[in-house]
Amino acid sequence: MAYQLNQKIRNLVPYKPISGTYDIRLDANESYFTLPDEIYEKALKAALSTQLNRYPDPAAKGLVRAFAEFYHIDPEYVTAGNGSDELISLIVSAFFEPEDELVTVVPDFSMYQFYAGVYGVKATAFPKKEDLTLDTVRLSAYLKSGGARGVIFSNPCNPTSLCISRRHLLQMIREVPNCLFVVDEAYMDFAEESILSVAHEYPNLIVLRTCSKAIGLAGLRLGFAIAGETITRALHAVKSPYNVNTLSQCVGTAVLSEPMYLIRCNEQIISAREALYKGLLKLYAKFRIFDTIYEPTTNFVFVKTKLAKDIYDKLLARSIAVRFMGGYLRITAGTKEEHKRLFEALEEIAKELAL
Ligand SMILES: *Cc1c(COP(=O)(O)O)cnc(C)c1O
Repeated sequence: MAYQLNQKIRNLVPYKPISGTYDIRLDANESYFTLPDEIYEKALKAALSTQLNRYPDPAAKGLVRAFAEFYHIDPEYVTAGNGSDELISLIVSAFFEPEDELVTVVPDFSMYQFYAGVYGVKATAFPKKEDLTLDTVRLSAYLKSGGARGVIFSNPCNPTSLCISRRHLLQMIREVPNCLFVVDEAYMDFAEESILSVAHEYPNLIVLRTCSKAIGLAGLRLGFAIAGETITRALHAVKSPYNVNTLSQCVGTAVLSEPMYLIRCNEQIISAREALYKGLLKLYAKFRIFDTIYEPTTNFVFVKTKLAKDIYDKLLARSIAVRFMGGYLRITAGTKEEHKRLFEALEEIAKELAL
């Protein structure tokens, strides 16, 4: 008999972001900032002095030091990854056995369940409340009673843009000490509830960070895991030795060594997010085009609307890409000009739909 793919991968299809070219891309939560020439040149100059015939530093020491310095933490607790995506994959594959239960929350970032599926780890889905907030008291009770081996979620959440407070989160982590908490802080640069600085104090905690959002380096593929000594040693031991390539290490180090620039970008993205939120609220008041606009804590705004598909299609037809998610839209903050065109388009669409 001919070779057959196994059951779990037979029906998988490659991840496909929106294809085609659009004038305005507000669909992938990237930063709208491109590197200023002087930082780009500094980074490329550093890249020119690397030796590509040699393997990269497996510990990515320079990069990890720059990351730790920028966030005021100890580099000893940091592991670099080829995007946080690689670290999620690594954690799900190495820290869980097939019979272990990995709890995810719904709705949340889909990659957690995806990797659980690929590695044959039993993933269960804990539902969020009607208002899309996470009931940490109930989740804590569920984790305690069910004997889950771990739980993974994003905070702030992609796609809801809602954030769990540091206090509630740490309380939960303390209450279920035999359960591994993987807290994905991909968007925490835009919020103020980070547990990064205390991550090493909890033997059952891994915090994930990425350079793909606030830092504006999605193309480099850089992510970080921050955890205590035991977990960090295990991560270093199970990761592929040369997971972060020399050029990414080098350019990432150069950019993370520009705190003034990064902080300025971050402030501007937060202002942009607020402007986007206010603009959408105005349209909501005028046309009832949305059902709910969730108060955002990230670089995107999440809206609930029965018209999601219509609005999405009509925006695409105007060369504006946002993310369509069932009865919801997720819209990334962009430049003033992009927002202006978005608002104009939404106003036109509202009129077309006779709202
Ligand atoms: C964008 C995103 C990431 C980033 O992944 P990278 O692989 O570092 O680009 C991780 N987690 C969440 C929830 C995200 O939205």
